[in-house]
Amino acid sequence: MCCRGPIILRLEPDEVTGFYRRAADLGTEARISRAADGGGNVLFLDQERECCPMLDTATSGCRIYDQRPRVCRDFPRKREPGCAISEWITPEPEPDQTP
Ligand code: SF4
Repeated sequence: MCCRGPIILRLEPDEVTGFYRRAADLGTEARISRAADGGGNVLFLDQERECCPMLDTATSGCRIYDQRPRVCRDFPRKREPGCAISEWITPEPEPDQTP
């Protein structure tokens, strides 16, 4: 699933503090490496449960769904084969090939 696996969750600079705080409120730790621009990277495989620290592994639900990071809210951006979540996205029209 999208909240697990060898994925890096990118946090915008204004999201890092809140992400730490929400993790602490949930009684978990978020291991975030800071990026040069002040944002953060959450490498799931570096986390205690090797998934997003906000993931409820019993239900596969996001425990901060209403406050999830921007990149999570924007996901998915395009249809991905085999990804049921992306099925609702209207495929982009093929470029016009007429001369
Ligand atoms: S914050 Fe929520 S939606 Fe985003 S990766 Fe973590 S569990 Fe998934």
